[in-house]
Amino acid sequence: METKNPPTIEVVYHDITVRTLEVLRVTRPTPRMVRVTLGGPELEGFIDRSPADHVKVFFPEPGAELPVLPRIADDGDGLEFPTEPPFPTSRDYTTRRFDAEAGELDLDFVLHGNGVASVWAERARPGMKLGLAGPRGSILVPWEFDWYLFAGDETALPAICRMLEDLPQGAPAKVFLLVDDAQEEHPVDTRADAEIVWLHRNGLRHGEGDLLERAVKGVEFLPGQPFIWVAGEAGELKPIRRYLHRELGLDREYTDVDGFWKRGTVNLDHHEPIEEDD
Ligand SMILES: Cc1cc2nc3c(=O)[nH]c(=O)nc-3n(C[C@H](O)[C@H](O)[C@H](O)COP(=O)(O)OP(=O)(O)OC[C@H]3O[C@@H](n4cnc5c(N)ncnc54)[C@H](O)[C@@H]3O)c2cc1C
Repeated sequence: METKNPPTIEVVYHDITVRTLEVLRVTRPTPRMVRVTLGGPELEGFIDRSPADHVKVFFPEPGAELPVLPRIADDGDGLEFPTEPPFPTSRDYTTRRFDAEAGELDLDFVLHGNGVASVWAERARPGMKLGLAGPRGSILVPWEFDWYLFAGDETALPAICRMLEDLPQGAPAKVFLLVDDAQEEHPVDTRADAEIVWLHRNGLRHGEGDLLERAVKGVEFLPGQPFIWVAGEAGELKPIRRYLHRELGLDREYTDVDGFWKRGTVNLDHHEPIEEDD
């Protein structure tokens, strides 16, 4: 299955920046997804290098206009958080679209009922303010793999849609997108030869069920070196990670399985670690 010269994935790190941005527009691509377009003078210099680039979003406390923000450490390397209240409240979000010329940045928020970010997004209106730190780094994937496998839930949709937008003409891709129902399907813009399968929970709660696992396990592998990217609820991904890494023995460098949130856990403030025994 290995090709002789698999493409090299490069990770680049960026100087950390902290910005306060203003909501310019709010739209609803689907009933349970809110797209917030941010702008303002502090957007100048924003870095957008790769489809999975993500930022730390800082939310104002209820009733406050501005978010509490961390400061950039004196050595310029990382963020320093206050040791006394008020503390910043942050969550991770993918850069869905950045247009430097227009001075616009889109973030897509899943509405899942509770949680600081979800509640904020449901109420978002033009003029409201958000803090943003990052992106801290970018994983630069050359689109030179023999084929692609992308899978994930709604939280992974912004990154997967961006990857599909970036893939070259005719690149073979198998894609599984897990959403509540047909109303939650997004238009996907791609030149790739992408086989896109929408999986519907049909009443199951987010993070429940094994639809993604069964879909990934059912994939007939194409010849050559794949690049695989999977993200979603941490528990739902464990059997997928085990299957791809352990059972199939795929190279972890080209097989990224990332827990973006964890059922019952407020603010999974890191990607779910890839543990040997997972
Ligand atoms: C690198 C990265 C990129 C991400 N990009 C995006 C993105 O572009 N868009 C996006 O919507 N999310 C994205 N996420 C996931 C998002 O950060 C989490 O879903 C986050 O927990 C939402 O914060 P919250 O304040 O709404 O809920 P929290 O306060 O963190 O959690 C409250 C409760 O809601 C549950 N919960 C959290 N998220 C969900 C969910 N999606 N569905 C159902 N229940 C949930 C938790 O388990 C908890 O019980 C990303 C995460 C990472 C690590």
